Amino acid sequence: MSAGGWDLEEIRRRADLVEIVSPHVRLRKSGARLGGLCPFHQERTPSFTLDPEKGLWHCFGCKAGGDLFRFVEMIEKVSFAEAVELLARRLGVPPKRPADAARQRTRERLLALHEQAAKFFQALLRGDTGRGTRAYLQRRGISNESVEAFCLGYARDAWESLLKAMAKRGFSGQDLARAGLAVPREDHFYDRFRNRLIFPIRDATGRVIAFGGRALADDQQPKYLNSPESPLFQKGQVLWNFDRARRAMAEAERAVVVEGYLDAISCCEAGLTEAVATMGTALTAEHVNLLRRQVKSLVLAFDSDSAGLAAALRGRELFQQAELDVRVVSMPEGVDPDDVVRERGGEALRQLVADARPMIEWELGRVLARAEGQGERAQAEALRGAILVLARAPAGADREYYLRWLAERQGADAPDRRRPLEAELRQALAREIKRIEGRSRRIPLAASGEGSAQRQGLEKPSAGRLQATLLAAFLQSGDLAEQHLGSLKVEYFPDEGQRAVFEAMRRLMERGEPFSAQEVLAELEPHIRPTLAGLALEYVPEEQIEESVAKKGVGERLKRQWGTLGIDVEEEQAVTEREKWVEVAIARLEEDRRLRRQQRELLRRLDEAKSQEEREAVQGELTEVNRRLSELAGRRIMGEN
Ligand SMILES: [Zn+2]
Repeated sequence: MSAGGWDLEEIRRRADLVEIVSPHVRLRKSGARLGGLCPFHQERTPSFTLDPEKGLWHCFGCKAGGDLFRFVEMIEKVSFAEAVELLARRLGVPPKRPADAARQRTRERLLALHEQAAKFFQALLRGDTGRGTRAYLQRRGISNESVEAFCLGYARDAWESLLKAMAKRGFSGQDLARAGLAVPREDHFYDRFRNRLIFPIRDATGRVIAFGGRALADDQQPKYLNSPESPLFQKGQVLWNFDRARRAMAEAERAVVVEGYLDAISCCEAGLTEAVATMGTALTAEHVNLLRRQVKSLVLAFDSDSAGLAAALRGRELFQQAELDVRVVSMPEGVDPDDVVRERGGEALRQLVADARPMIEWELGRVLARAEGQGERAQAEALRGAILVLARAPAGADREYYLRWLAERQGADAPDRRRPLEAELRQALAREIKRIEGRSRRIPLAASGEGSAQRQGLEKPSAGRLQATLLAAFLQSGDLAEQHLGSLKVEYFPDEGQRAVFEAMRRLMERGEPFSAQEVLAELEPHIRPTLAGLALEYVPEEQIEESVAKKGVGERLKRQWGTLGIDVEEEQAVTEREKWVEVAIARLEEDRRLRRQQRELLRRLDEAKSQEEREAVQGELTEVNRRLSELAGRRIMGEN
């Protein structure tokens, strides 16, 4: 069993669960087990138990439990893959496959280069050469503490400054080019970052993986320059300051999301240390995934006019699926958090963040504000706009509440108008919702299935569920996709959106291009994109698989999740490998298809049967096939309600 090229068995062999847990829990012996106060919930009497023999832990209080990977995942708040890598490094376990070992060596070398480069840039800023830039930072109100805390640096206005310095440390021009730090030109290389203020970009564990550079001269283009994507750095998957903000996020129980480096630094200076920056890109499904592991609520502090905010609003489905409460700061147009702190101070920004409104309310407010102080026609126009906002809100958004809110706000100076206005708005909303639903119904949402199956009443409401889970698993693991995409047929995906996602994945594979939710997204027609966003957040197989190892930790939730895969928890208790799991799922699909073919054939024979005897024989077989089909279907939807 391997994950991301790591040998999980070897990690298990070398690791001592007690050693991993004891810095976080004061363990005491109780029988063959150890017990202590659970680090995952507040308690006075110990309900955390650990079985050193089996290598499992479980808390009877909060029901958390699993093996060493699960513990590291939860205590460090990292993904399964990150937990594995963390443990592998700590224990000195080498990567498994030779190809992975080579890839790992490249990674290590790139990481070492980034670390050296960060130190080099930082030293330049601290030294004489950086005097002008330090003065600039001071003028912008960035404190020395921030300069040190964020390890800001300076890149000289020269073509080979970094190249020469790194050559002395044993890194070639080729190395720098691979890291995106140098640009190849005919027979030589030149530095990518010149005359720029440097912001090191770190991964979730705090290692430098890329740089951002802000222009220091007025005529310099572009104003912000980032490292290109590299084996270390995928822009859509990294949030700036995430590594440092993690603890603050846990304490504040929220994340403040901003767009730029300086916005994040300004937030931190204003005491909002839970700030992370998207580095100018839209919030991606990966970003949301990263954040929802840490917090339940997000505050978007974007310039009201920015493309980033517009994109975030379009992505509201994403937030809803992630069960994130998203609030928007009412920032004046053309103003970002950095401006607020510089012009009005930290307290002003803290106040703005505290006053952030739920996304839908903020949108309604913005639509209505456009008509403020204007004539009746503009008012009516704004109300229509507001109804559209409500109609497009994801199901589950509190439409009724906001309908009343709207009527109250609009009818504030005419109380007798309020009720009729509310009724009017309710009607308009119903019409609009109907119109939108009518439009989307044209896209088939689930398998239409074979007619016969429908006649037999076997069609299940959750058709397409297993397919969705498979695709979600592929999105999470390029390795898995590589192994199994080829063995799946396009007919397995009766849903238009799923089929498009599947085909996009296959195209990427065939072209040998990098495989991530971002890449797949780029392949899709815009109307399919929400399907993908849904899939990208659908499923976190790692934790289920790891939990399944811990029999004790198998709670109702796990049972439910496995149930949706059509995998019987008891039966598959031993399934610990993702690879194995996908095979089981594919086998289920095959079985489903085979049975449906058989069913079709039997129905045809039933129609053509010449004698009563033959009819009865066919009927008997059909009953058996139907029984097995509904068994399969029943399993698949187990726990869905
Ligand atoms: Zn607990």
